[in-house]
Amino acid sequence: MNRALTLKGIDFPCPGNNRACYLSFFKALKFQMSLSHPSACLVFIVTFVLHQVVFLMEITSIQNKIQQYLGDGKRLFTTSSFQTHSVVLLHILSRIDRNIPVYFINTGYHFPETIMYKEEVAAALGLRVIDLHPRVPKIMQRNREGNLLFTSDPDYCCFLNKVQPVEGLLELYDVWISGVRADQNTHRRQLPEEAPLEHNTLRYHPVLHWTVQMVEAYIGHFGLPRHPLEEKGYSSIGCEPCTRPAEKDDKRGGRWYGQKKTECGLNAELIQKKN
Ligand code: SF4
Repeated sequence: MNRALTLKGIDFPCPGNNRACYLSFFKALKFQMSLSHPSACLVFIVTFVLHQVVFLMEITSIQNKIQQYLGDGKRLFTTSSFQTHSVVLLHILSRIDRNIPVYFINTGYHFPETIMYKEEVAAALGLRVIDLHPRVPKIMQRNREGNLLFTSDPDYCCFLNKVQPVEGLLELYDVWISGVRADQNTHRRQLPEEAPLEHNTLRYHPVLHWTVQMVEAYIGHFGLPRHPLEEKGYSSIGCEPCTRPAEKDDKRGGRWYGQKKTECGLNAELIQKKN
């Protein structure tokens, strides 16, 4: 059974299991009691306990899986685009093993705010972040008219700047931990929790079934830093030329706006090659 989906849509008040969490619970309960009927308070308590159990199960399951990989001697890495929701997986990993390398796929097209945010998160969580650069220099990433490739062939641009650099990592590691979520688009909805790749590498999706509500609750509870562009309406943030603020109901709608493209290839090409 998909644990997260059973509670989809509910606003998770508190994903932690610590003093601050219980203080916020009692504060919320007091507020409920001042407004509601006793039965509503009971519902509130049961919902809170359910949320706690779900989060505990989720985080324990991720911890167990990663410990199992490490115990089997597997070499792990993760990639991060340091965008709006990336910090959740990074925080979870930082509490399991800070030595797991975090590769930032530095296309050269990121917003300055993303670069600043990357530095902030890396310092706050004590992460080992490594910038991964494209092999092909930008001077050779031009079309016949001399324009950069994102203007005419974004798939190839993504291949050179994102897919190809990560492909090289698959030879060096056994498990790639990726923070994609099923609720982000229809393609991701079909991904399994573990997917085989080239070079006998496995891709593991620990937060695949997390909902936006869970992610937001987690960030809020731990007071994690937020991407500075989020307050300007950017809910999904990639390269600057291919990102604009999103429409309210379509969180990823600001990516490759007006094009059919919804993925950069990291979550499609590299997985499909083996299937
Ligand atoms: S997102 Fe845009 S700029 Fe970035 S690699 Fe892909 S096409 Fe190029």
